[in-house]
Amino acid sequence: MRDETKCLHAGYTPKNAEPRVVPIVQSTTYVYDSSEAIGAVFDEPTHSLIYSRFANPTVMAVEGKIAALEGGSAAMCTSSGQAALLLAVLNLCKAGDSIVSSTQIYGGAVNLFDFTLRKLGIECIFVSADDDEQTIAAAIKPNTKALFGETLSNPALAVLDIERFAKVAHAHGLPLIIDNTFATPVLCKPISFGADIVLHSTSKYMDGHAVQIGGVIVDSGRFDWKNGKFPELVEPDPSYHGISYTETYGDNAYIIKARMQLMRDFGVYPAAHAAFLLNLGLETLALRMERYCSNALKVAEYLASCEHVEAVNYPGLPGNKYHALAQKYLKGASGVTSFIIRGGREKAMRFMDALQLVSKEVHVADIRTCVLHPASTTHRQLSDAQIAAAGVHPGMVRISVGLEHVDDILEDIGQAFARAFH
Ligand code: PLP
Repeated sequence: MRDETKCLHAGYTPKNAEPRVVPIVQSTTYVYDSSEAIGAVFDEPTHSLIYSRFANPTVMAVEGKIAALEGGSAAMCTSSGQAALLLAVLNLCKAGDSIVSSTQIYGGAVNLFDFTLRKLGIECIFVSADDDEQTIAAAIKPNTKALFGETLSNPALAVLDIERFAKVAHAHGLPLIIDNTFATPVLCKPISFGADIVLHSTSKYMDGHAVQIGGVIVDSGRFDWKNGKFPELVEPDPSYHGISYTETYGDNAYIIKARMQLMRDFGVYPAAHAAFLLNLGLETLALRMERYCSNALKVAEYLASCEHVEAVNYPGLPGNKYHALAQKYLKGASGVTSFIIRGGREKAMRFMDALQLVSKEVHVADIRTCVLHPASTTHRQLSDAQIAAAGVHPGMVRISVGLEHVDDILEDIGQAFARAFH
């Protein structure tokens, strides 16, 4: 199946007289005929359902669809993108371990890696997405368990050279974890470039309608966990009656461990209703991504030609630093672009207040176009000097281009400039 078809059909195949649409199974639990049968489920948790904190039929349909789209062996949904980040790392690291991450990642991931995980004894060493192989390799320590980066980073819009990071990771016997939220599997399939684990905030393009918060982790099924660095995946797990994940689950060792050990203990599984909403979004993902990309490119081109704009950051533009990598890794540069307005903070805020169709909100990847002024919101606590060091100019506006007719978006931007600068 091609992506358009997978978006509609993967993960759920109704049998004779079953519902056409993925049903919402709003049940915490599942009934068994005998006590022996229910006991047996604990030995073979992948064959039947135990409890909706581990698995639920509605959520599983979505997991199957996303695994198919990413080209992975299996997936596990989580109640948020943050939960996906947390479990993806904790599935490999314990206190005393470390990860190496690109600095150009979502601020929430930086908080998790640099503060919260550090408090749990897991260190994060940051390298730039632009660093060469030697510099990335130099950050790896004997206790390093994974490398991490975002395909198309939020908010810097840096395009990761996935093959470069995968090469260094694999040379050290480590997996590469990729956050593919902004690209989605429609624009990039990181596993085909060497990624071992892919995750998403499904709250963004996958949902696309701003109706649910969710995340997902996809296992490529390809990493060799028996290389000596990951005993917790190989040796018997005393918390799960002595199971060896690699022995019992082969290619799905990583994702089954995440489900049966971490999901069991942290309980961050999504509700069936949230998965149902996510599935509706996924059904049109391939179609929507095409339009986000074409609308955003037109908006970026318009902004680049606008006298009130100092600079535009969109990897889809030929002059952009990441254009060549975008051409290699992405089928389109997605829907988010940022630009710096001449006149700094004050003009940027006047421009935003003058927008009528485009809304001001803390979100991206919605079907509706929205803007955010990072300096006064996500980076509010910082001085102008600190903001600059974080790569966020006081006059920067981030725009997530939606699916309205592009001329309506351009007209709204045009009238807002006219009012801000009159
Ligand atoms: N990863 C990326 C790239 C994000 O942009 C976000 C949220 O904006 C997250 C992870 C966290 O996802 P969530 O908000 O669903 O917890």
